[in-house]
Amino acid sequence: MEKKRIALLGSTGSIGTNTLEVISRYRERYEVVALAAGSNLALLRQQIREFQPRLVSIRDLDHLEELREEVKPFHGEVIAGMEGLLQVARYEQADMVVSAICGAAGLLPTYEAAVAGKNIALANKESLIMAGGIIMDKAKSMGIQILPIDSEHSAIFQCLLGHNPKEIRRLILTASGGPFLFTPKEEFCKITYQQAIHHPTWSMGEKISLDSATLMNKALEVIEAHWLFNVPVDSIEVVIHPESVIHSMVEYWDGNILALLATSDMRLPILYALSYPERLPLDLPPLDLPRLGTISFHSPDVEKFPCLRLGYEAARQGQTAPAVMNAANEIAISAFKQGRINFCDIPKIIEETLNRHQPVPLREISDALWADRWGRQQARDIIGRLSC
Ligand code: NDP
Ligand code: MG
Repeated sequence: MEKKRIALLGSTGSIGTNTLEVISRYRERYEVVALAAGSNLALLRQQIREFQPRLVSIRDLDHLEELREEVKPFHGEVIAGMEGLLQVARYEQADMVVSAICGAAGLLPTYEAAVAGKNIALANKESLIMAGGIIMDKAKSMGIQILPIDSEHSAIFQCLLGHNPKEIRRLILTASGGPFLFTPKEEFCKITYQQAIHHPTWSMGEKISLDSATLMNKALEVIEAHWLFNVPVDSIEVVIHPESVIHSMVEYWDGNILALLATSDMRLPILYALSYPERLPLDLPPLDLPRLGTISFHSPDVEKFPCLRLGYEAARQGQTAPAVMNAANEIAISAFKQGRINFCDIPKIIEETLNRHQPVPLREISDALWADRWGRQQARDIIGRLSC
């Protein structure tokens, strides 16, 4: 059997390391031909030794010579910077790109992979928030597949298989509710960064953990689902399901709802994105339903979690609004991490940034980059005024 050759963007992150674990289990099927990482050189060095990729990229040019020296006698090439990242994304020897960088930095390499005609296993939801229409059009014109890694979208993708998309009534995205589901609203301003990055059911990177605490992650996922499955935003609902057993559902127009249940482990959707349309065994403990007992559902409280409302509003506005919202969110959560604002300020900053924005059409990828820059600038300005 010919091995599927993988280029992995974000190899040192939570999704990246889980992807390499899955690949290690199936060495006879997958080969890692290229890796891209940020600044975790210690882990990257180990990955280079273990997987012997032919091309490696790191974020900072300053560390390039150091890494080249350290990995000798490595026969592959080590490059750096945005151009390095794009080279990995379009690497001619790769059949599939796993897009797992976090945040807006994932936009250009994801787009580049589509332009180069690579099938994409997509974790980086921010690229679809910023330029979903452009990326999906490019995927269509290049005849490539975008296979979701995000667990909710993997669930929906699987619930749609063999069905007519015209018969969909609603997509129902489940949300664990994050660590503050039962915290009274009055206590939100006192929430610390350490509390916010501690997710109850999933172990993930810092940024997505924070987004889960504000429910911005779910807002981003609504927009992600809109683009991936071509379903109107107002036909996508969010339901809080703290046990995270049902990963999402599809309701058809006759009222039947299909749901996907699975253990909360990202290796499951990662493997499915790599192996689709096949299913491969994964040695995870089976879901023990009797032990689970009951599962529950609640409506989300948008008063407590305004980011969810803001996500729907930005999605309805469309054009550059979601990219601006995403940019403001990234700036706000980094200011929260630095202790410059409190937890309650995050949605305020995003809302104020969106209020200042007059959405314009997204024709090219450069329009999304412009919206991202604009949103960041405005959010920084708002934070500056807050701290005066
Ligand atoms: P992490 O923060 O754990 O990892 C991010 C990865 O991207 C790291 O390898 C980091 O490198 C790399 N990176 C960041 N910026 C750059 C850059 N400018 N150039 C090159 N590499 C860069 O994030 P996650 O793995 O949690 O999330 C990745 C994406 O997947 C996000 O979009 C997230 O929303 C999505 N996702 C994640 C899930 C999860 O369970 N973690 C679930 C569903 C979706 P380094 O560490 O070396 O600096
Ligand atoms: Mg998710």
